[in-house]
Amino acid sequence: MKADIVTIFPDFFRGPLDYGITRRAREMGLAEIAVHDLRGFTHDRHRTVDDRPFGGGEGMVLKPEPIFELLETLPLASREARMEDRIAGRATQSVILLSAQGERFTQQVASQLAALDRIVLVCGRYEGVDERVSEFLADREFSIGDYVLSGGELGAAVILEAVTRLLPGALGNEASTRQESFTAHGHDEVEDGGEFIGNASTCGSNGLLDYPHYTRPAEFRGMTVPEVLLNGNHQQIRRWRRERALKKTLRNRPDLLDGADLSIEDREILSRLGKS
Ligand code: SAM
Repeated sequence: MKADIVTIFPDFFRGPLDYGITRRAREMGLAEIAVHDLRGFTHDRHRTVDDRPFGGGEGMVLKPEPIFELLETLPLASREARMEDRIAGRATQSVILLSAQGERFTQQVASQLAALDRIVLVCGRYEGVDERVSEFLADREFSIGDYVLSGGELGAAVILEAVTRLLPGALGNEASTRQESFTAHGHDEVEDGGEFIGNASTCGSNGLLDYPHYTRPAEFRGMTVPEVLLNGNHQQIRRWRRERALKKTLRNRPDLLDGADLSIEDREILSRLGKS
């Protein structure tokens, strides 16, 4: 996958792209990430990228011309063609504007983006970006959460990290993305006459939060690892993990239960936990 970041602070990305899985994916050639300096596409002595808002008001707004000119140097299909491809389910490219007003970026969106050949991430600053970028250039606007940051750079780094770790081969152990929080797929069902009664493997959160993890030592300053994890009974371990995942989801993110792929066993656990 190729990714292009459009920013007025290219040095910002030195850290986030140079560690862990993102670095490894780049070194392995799985992800090719280019950081573009928006100021390189200005034509005045001061390399001006912003201006005052029409209609008055606080702050400055990123001008459209440098952003349009920069994107015209990238091998992108026209916006119309990209939109048509997206509607037809055959998208290969996406131009994304980081914005507090965007759709919420989720694990599901990360999987969609990981399947593309190229993503372009446009980082706003100041009061935001001239709206014509959203209207006529970007395919999608994403927010990384309901709060306001000073720029889109952290959001672009978040999106890149979430997407890069989903690229086939980026993680050593492929199964480790299957069991994670929010991951909608990945259960190996135990079926009874065609009915989904439970998960055969401990992998696959099916839209819930992940279960708790423990490692050695089994006892640390009087804090012990739950006994069930030490007894080697895989059926009991699987049930315990599922119960704990459900418990944590119910406590921290009850909204996720509505969209989760729940088995009969899950529903029994939830009713025991007091959720109707
Ligand atoms: N005036 C804008 C508003 O109230 O929605 C906020 C602009 S913010 C100070 C400047 C830039 O930071 C935005 O253009 C966007 O690129 C980025 N940004 C801020 N919050 C964000 C969020 N939650 N998710 C993604 N990008 C964000």
